[in-house]
Amino acid sequence: LALALQAHDHGARVRIVERRTDLFRPSRALIVHPRTLEVLRPLGVTETLLDCGEVSPSVRLHVGGREIPVQLSGFEMSDTPYPHLLFVRQAVVEAVLSQALADRSLEVERGIEVIDLHHHADGAEATLRRAGMSEGASCRYVAGCDGPASTMRRLAGVGWRGGSYAQEIVLADLELEADLASEAHVVTGRDGLLFVFAPGEGATWRLLATRSRRGAADHSDAPGGAVSIDELQGLLDRAGLQAHVDDVTWSSRVHLEHRIASQYRHGSLFLVGDAAHVHSPAGGQGMNTGIQDALNLGWKLAFAATDTPDPTTAEVLLETYDRERRPVARKVLAMTHALFWGEAGTDPVARFARGPLASLASPVIPHLLRYRPLVAAVVRHLSQLRVHYRHSEISVDGTPRSHGRPRPGERLLDSLVELAGGRTTHLHELLAHAGIDMLLDRDASRPPEVAAHRLLGTHRILNWPGTGVCVVRPDGYVGFRCADFEPRQVAAWLALVAAPAGVHEAVTPRVEPAEADQA
Ligand SMILES: Cc1cc2nc3c(=O)[nH]c(=O)nc-3n(C[C@H](O)[C@H](O)[C@H](O)COP(=O)(O)OP(=O)(O)OC[C@H]3O[C@@H](n4cnc5c(N)ncnc54)[C@H](O)[C@@H]3O)c2cc1C
Repeated sequence: LALALQAHDHGARVRIVERRTDLFRPSRALIVHPRTLEVLRPLGVTETLLDCGEVSPSVRLHVGGREIPVQLSGFEMSDTPYPHLLFVRQAVVEAVLSQALADRSLEVERGIEVIDLHHHADGAEATLRRAGMSEGASCRYVAGCDGPASTMRRLAGVGWRGGSYAQEIVLADLELEADLASEAHVVTGRDGLLFVFAPGEGATWRLLATRSRRGAADHSDAPGGAVSIDELQGLLDRAGLQAHVDDVTWSSRVHLEHRIASQYRHGSLFLVGDAAHVHSPAGGQGMNTGIQDALNLGWKLAFAATDTPDPTTAEVLLETYDRERRPVARKVLAMTHALFWGEAGTDPVARFARGPLASLASPVIPHLLRYRPLVAAVVRHLSQLRVHYRHSEISVDGTPRSHGRPRPGERLLDSLVELAGGRTTHLHELLAHAGIDMLLDRDASRPPEVAAHRLLGTHRILNWPGTGVCVVRPDGYVGFRCADFEPRQVAAWLALVAAPAGVHEAVTPRVEPAEADQA
């Protein structure tokens, strides 16, 4: 959904097909990280998400008989407008994105399944099944956002490396008789972690617990079987949470895998989200990483599809999706693997760490949590605020090299900036729209010969002394910087990202015939 929004906003025609007929399915993700809120902002959905969720979430951590309050907001992170986690259900995120599509007159065509896909030099031919009937569809590019059991990945023969976890997740919406404050509770126990938070989707509480997997690994994306009320009560009792299960409205077992696609691109097919990588829910990474994948790709597909100056350039641009995003997923896999061992490992060391060791350490935990730089560093890491694409083909340093501005490939940090007319604003607010933005230092030699183009914004930043320029990609990463503003170098970078031709012209100085004669 995020990819479709971004591709559309950058000029692509998009079609979205979804096998499920219902909009609603029980949520899995609950946490949206600061970086995801940042990248969604140009799509105009972040404010709505903030309104729909909890921006100052707190949890009560139950360790060794202690209850420790943990605030998940107010982190020491002045370079982001969102120094907090957002608790919002995945179903709400999907509804907000679907509404944003509807506002652009784009529809998610439900009840349509992709069953076959063939590539040719100019795109792909898909076979779709709708109400038992087959039909064909042609397109230039296909984004396979079809989850861990991806049909597209299988049809393309792309490898799916990794394995299954010996543990599974139990999810349930239930009514509890308990003396629990109405917020989130995390209980550490020898057997694993147990989360209880309100409100559930179909009941007052949602429970999430880890336990050893029952039965063989299930590689489909069908919902797992239900869990009995006795089993749910057993999980609460073993965790030591004083709560009695009164009623269960919904429950499910979730099989877990840690896998990554051996390539993110196959011809005109691009794998995105869980179709490209899947891991344990530890750290709340899956949906966040998927959205960040999507917003790395949407504008590239749009630029490559709409007004490509040169097919080879478009190829280089499209290749950067795999080059930039697969290394991110590899790190996420490693991190979630380590976190999940801590959360759910069944070996004696993990059990000891969660049990007696955690109890012993519990008096120190509140002090650690008060050390704000440490907490901010952890959130930065989990949020992928540190992700960079410095080695990407489209991260370019111009000549003369600038040293004062963010490096190409790095995320543009938020800060207060001064604009003409004494206006002050936040940089991220200034850039919260589709397109590429060119930021000129205060004394940049001359203004560009801007022929207005909706995909190129130009801003002179008066509190940035210097003569340089910094060009920011649609996903908020710096693409080009130079110590001097030299229009031809900027135009060369724009040509590299296959930006629509009008954008190049916007910065290429027009040489009047008289000037040319003089020269
Ligand atoms: C218990 C749990 C908790 C989690 N918590 C978090 C969290 O807090 N934060 C976080 O970031 N992530 C979390 N995740 C991970 C997150 O839920 C997933 O990463 C996310 O759902 C992936 O989204 P996706 O769109 O890539 O794939 P999916 O959500 O799997 O969606 C794929 C879609 O493709 C459709 N589809 C499949 N095949 C076809 C086809 N052939 N034709 C047409 N349509 C098709 C399916 O119907 C489905 O709607 C959690 C996961 C679990 C299991």
